[in-house]
Amino acid sequence: MTAIALPATEDLRARARACLDRIGVEVPEGDDLYARTPVTGEDLFGLKGSGAAEAEAAVAAAHEAFLTWRSIPAPRRGELVRRFGELVREHHGDLADLITLEAGKIRSEAYGEVQEIIDIADYAVGLSRQLYGRVIASERAGHRMAETWHPLGVVGIISAFNFPAAVWAWNATVALVCGDTLVWKPSELTPLISLACDRLLARAAEEVGAPAGIHRLVLGGRESGEQLVDDPRVALVSATGSTRMGRSVGPRVAARFGRTLLELGGNNAAIVTPSADLDLTLPSVVFASAGTAGQRCTALRRLIVHRDVVDSLLPRLTAAFERLPVGDPFAEGTLVGPLISPAPLASMQDALARVTADGGKVLVGGERVETGTASAAYVRPAVVRIEGHTEVVREETFAPLLYVLTYDTLEEAIALQNDVPQGLSSSIFTRDQREAEVFMSAVGSDCGMVNVNVGTSGAEIGGAFGGEKETGGGRACGSDAWHAYMRRTTNVVNYSAEVALAQNINFL
Ligand code: NAD
Repeated sequence: MTAIALPATEDLRARARACLDRIGVEVPEGDDLYARTPVTGEDLFGLKGSGAAEAEAAVAAAHEAFLTWRSIPAPRRGELVRRFGELVREHHGDLADLITLEAGKIRSEAYGEVQEIIDIADYAVGLSRQLYGRVIASERAGHRMAETWHPLGVVGIISAFNFPAAVWAWNATVALVCGDTLVWKPSELTPLISLACDRLLARAAEEVGAPAGIHRLVLGGRESGEQLVDDPRVALVSATGSTRMGRSVGPRVAARFGRTLLELGGNNAAIVTPSADLDLTLPSVVFASAGTAGQRCTALRRLIVHRDVVDSLLPRLTAAFERLPVGDPFAEGTLVGPLISPAPLASMQDALARVTADGGKVLVGGERVETGTASAAYVRPAVVRIEGHTEVVREETFAPLLYVLTYDTLEEAIALQNDVPQGLSSSIFTRDQREAEVFMSAVGSDCGMVNVNVGTSGAEIGGAFGGEKETGGGRACGSDAWHAYMRRTTNVVNYSAEVALAQNINFL
């Protein structure tokens, strides 16, 4: 088989440099960490990281800025986010390029990730005029009871490589209008896009006259994240990444009575029922499982198909997988770009070996795609047929790997769907309203995201995003998720001339 053509790393480096120059980023060159591109698997730039002292200074600056920022009226805080959103629109292409360069996303997905930043910025601007509390009926005459929401403090954002900009923006834009200030510890695998977002927010802050310390970037690995986790000035740690990371972060922040918002791993399933419209199901399933090279927290990893339809769906599914163009994510027509590094390719091949030993059959894919270099990791998305759950099927393998299982009754399908430690996203493909309603009911899917005739991935920012069980329980983005970034006070006002104690207590 001939190797697929990849661009030269030198050209990618020049492309990154041009984007960063247009955005106005001065790259802090050094040799603490490396900006690397999964497109060729090679280094682009050596960077200076933030040591412990710089991380400490970042938290101190954000804390200092909070003391001013919390008193600025929320609609004026929204002006900062509006300007930031405008700058993101101006640099849509540059930011998308950096995402493709560092995370390996294909063009339309990289553009889509930047669109998500714009969408959440728009949302946050509107939210800045809607941070309302409620008035509650008091049991005492001449009293008024109400809830007020106040800024929380410094929000520490720890983010993952696979949504290197949008996940930060979900947190940053909403937290800023809520009156919080930010310290961001991005994935060590995606420093350039973080520098670019940080620069655009700093420009917006300069232009609207916001305090400089409202946002600080800390470039580093796990130790930098741990510093935010343990710092009592960081009121909320919003951490997105693996369940392994969340298992460390959650208890450590809880030990100091800090707050967490955890967005962790998924192991998502879709049920295909006998009444499913297969023309609609097929592209939804292929995008959800092979899109982003399977590297989404919401990626579809388990397809639970009714025994009556499996024989009509599977040949179409495997044929669609066989046709998927794998290759250079910058090239027109590519639908599956690289894995972030060779490590997830090894994990995928280990999962395939384990599931085969469990009696599974690989129907298509799983082979490394030859590129002529060992440093880049391209793989053909795989479909595996297996009866029932085995240990490996219940784990999150962060790669394009789809297990196909079969079922006979809806109850059995829902039990299988829920029989994993994670609880992020789920779907049912059906034209039967009763099945759809059961799936969405209390005895249906136990996930945070429950879809009907829509794939597991690709959530809109207007809803609250997050999942249950080992996915961490956090909710970000729309709906009332902003509550996580504020503290609530309950206020009681006595406007009568009488003393009235609650529960009719008499005293003096
Ligand atoms: P990861 O857990 O390896 O790293 C995520 C971030 O956590 C990085 O910034 C890393 O430096 C930091 N980190 C790691 N250990 C830490 C610790 N003990 N203390 C503090 N910080 C620590 O994850 P990844 O490989 O970058 O991303 C893939 C994972 O993220 C997958 O499991 C995926 O499902 C998950 N993810 C979840 C969501 C969601 O919204 N639920 C979104 C994107 C990704």
